[in-house]
Order: sequence, then C-alpha cells, then structure tokens
Amino acid sequence: MKLILASNNAHKLREFREILSPLGIEIIPQSEAGCHFEVDETGTTFEENAYLKAAAVTTATGLPAVADDSGLVVDALNGEPGIYSARYTGNHADTDADRTALVLKKMVGVEQRSARFVSCINCTFPNGDRIDTRGECEGHIQQEATGQNGFGYDPIFRPVGYACSTAEMTPDEKNAISHRGKSLREFYEKLKEYLNAHK
Ligand code: IMP
Repeated sequence: MKLILASNNAHKLREFREILSPLGIEIIPQSEAGCHFEVDETGTTFEENAYLKAAAVTTATGLPAVADDSGLVVDALNGEPGIYSARYTGNHADTDADRTALVLKKMVGVEQRSARFVSCINCTFPNGDRIDTRGECEGHIQQEATGQNGFGYDPIFRPVGYACSTAEMTPDEKNAISHRGKSLREFYEKLKEYLNAHK
C-alpha cells in the first residue's frame, strides 16, 4: 500500500518510515504525489488540523494520507503556544530560538511551569474511513534553554522524571518518551489492525 505523508518535512518522513516499515507500507511525501500546496491550518485543535492536512491530500490524490500536528501547551499561558507553536511570534522568518525566547519571556516570574508536548496523527482513506491517535509528554518549562539536540522548543522543555531538557537527550531517548513517539506507536498498532480487517 502507498500512504502519502501530508508534509514535506524530511524529519517527519524519516520518523514515519522508520516506525511503519514493518508493515511493508510505502510512505511518499506529498510533493512526490503531485501535491504542491500547503493547507491552511484553520482548525482550533491539533486533531482538526491534522485531519485538514490529511483530508486535503486524500481529496487531491484519491490515496490514503497521513498527517500529524503537534506543539507545546503551557498551562500558565492558557495553553499557548498550542496549535500556533510553529508560528508563535507571528513572523515566519523567526527561528526556533526566537519562539523559545518568547515563551521564556512570558514565563519570567511564573512559578507554575507545567507544560506538555502534544502530537495528533490523522490518517484518511478514500472511502471516508479515518484513524486518529494522540500522544502527550508531560513536563515543565525550564528557566533557561539548555542542550543542542532536537528542534523547536526542546531546549526549554524538561520531561517529568528527568534532570535535563529534551534537547539534551539522544533521539532514541527522546523517542521512547515523546508525544510523537507515543502517537506514532499507537498509529502503527491501529493501522496494522485496520489493514488486517481490510485484506
Ligand atoms: P507542525 O509541523 O505544525 O506540527 O508544528 C509543530 C511545532 O511544534 C514545531 O514547529 C515546534 O515548534 C513544536 N514542536 C512539536 N514537536 C516538538 C518537539 O518534539 N520538540 C520541540 N518542539 C516541538
């Protein structure tokens, strides 16, 4: 089976390929399937935005498609940056370091620093079937950025039970506890069940 990844992000492509390879599925980035558009993320939840991205590709190609939407949810900031994680500063030219600095600035003097990373995956099929999964990783916002690994908000996020940020972990260490690791493993199980039921 061919499954189109509704993204051209090489990092996501590698992760999806790695985890789904035992199912013998060919994962193709959306540009290789002729989808040269970017879907407006107009949903109000991670679930909705993942669905909008996957559904747009299934509609355009007539093939099953999968998308994920993820971000950092900070309790003291009423859930921000949330679904706006990738564009939190409002300026597309800004970097991960700019977005991280903005969160730290808003958290100056704030004691209640609980937060979580969230990842929602949605897979759509041409017959209207869909698979949804969600993974979360609980933690706290550090007082300052530490570590060079990972991306995004990793340097300021310390998972519960750890004495370092996710930017100080190896990829394997992070995958074992991360929101995306969890949603991807759940997706693997649900897709396996779905394919067995639809042989
Ligand atoms: P998406 O590509 O629309 O899902 O954007 C997700 C955004 O959330 C990224 O650009 C990061 O800013 C943030 N994010 C999601 N997952 C992680 C992670 O594992 N570490 C750090 N930041 C993350």
